[in-house]
Amino acid sequence: MSIWEENVRKVIPYTPGEQPDFPDMIKLNTNENPYPPSPLVKKALEEMELNSMRLYPAPAADALVEELAEAYHVKKEQVFVGVGSDDVLAMAFLTFFNSEKPILFPDITYSFYDVWADLFRIPYEQLPLNEDFAIVPEDYMKENGGIIFPNPNAPTGVEMPFEEVEKIIAYNPESVVIIDEAYVDFGAASVLPLIEKYENLLVVQTTSKSRSMAGMRIGYAFGSEKLIHYLNDAKYSFNSYTMNRPSLVLGSAAIRDQEYFRKITGKIMATREWTKKELKRLGFTFPDSKTNFIFATHEKVQAKELFEALKEQHIFVRYFNKPRIDNYLRITIGTDEQMKKLIDFLEQYL
Ligand SMILES: *Cc1c(COP(=O)(O)O)cnc(C)c1O
Repeated sequence: MSIWEENVRKVIPYTPGEQPDFPDMIKLNTNENPYPPSPLVKKALEEMELNSMRLYPAPAADALVEELAEAYHVKKEQVFVGVGSDDVLAMAFLTFFNSEKPILFPDITYSFYDVWADLFRIPYEQLPLNEDFAIVPEDYMKENGGIIFPNPNAPTGVEMPFEEVEKIIAYNPESVVIIDEAYVDFGAASVLPLIEKYENLLVVQTTSKSRSMAGMRIGYAFGSEKLIHYLNDAKYSFNSYTMNRPSLVLGSAAIRDQEYFRKITGKIMATREWTKKELKRLGFTFPDSKTNFIFATHEKVQAKELFEALKEQHIFVRYFNKPRIDNYLRITIGTDEQMKKLIDFLEQYL
């Protein structure tokens, strides 16, 4: 290895889900929303001024921050935005996880956490989920340099009750606790109200799943004014203009249309409940999901085999070749029609 190469920051990058592109495909592998963004987003897109692109966007992303503050009944000083929640989370790792003590997160969880920890040289400890794929709250009641987990967890779909999450936060006033609520809009309870009570709590959400805006890359976080201030200091030291003009305009429109948001998340939850019944009928079991996906295993047929068979039909689901979960499929909830096709194929295959 050449000398310069020894000094390279080497990382094993996160592997995102495949993005296949077939006209007839049923894409249930990356938890995207099957419905289009709000009509208000379409209107805002049509009205966007090309000439505005000449100018740098507002560094504080004011329009979007104000829209979020209004929609979620918080002060704008309690809101941080970024290029997807991945950007928000990476910035939060950089800003808040600087202890010599390890940060704590589950062994089975969003697989970006260990990647960021490695990238930023943050020590970490992965705590095993129990046999039901639930996080054990007591495990998080010990010395640590920070805590992060999704609620509901991914890829399991399991929600930790509000009171349990609060117990973890209450036990840990000496470190920052980040709750990644990427899927909270599909029927789980948000701990957002607790930011008034715990100044070390950061609640991260995204427009990618519940608002059909994965392609726009808009994420956000809520926390105490102090926490948000620290986050902004790190952001401005890295890149002043993370949010581009279209993101600010279209993101604001997506947040504004609460009626549409409630309609499509409601629809997805109804489709999810139908899909649960059908999967059960076909011999699948799964932890109860409060998300827009179901993490299922079959009593007889291996997940890998089903994954390949589905792929041949251009039905894409997610398969993780990892210990403990290599016999599970993570199936995103699509439209009723897509889920019907999935179930019909599985029924015939099995
Ligand atoms: C999808 C997802 C994210 C990232 O979403 P963005 O598209 O970057 O907003 C973060 N955390 C979890 C658990 C996710 O599933």
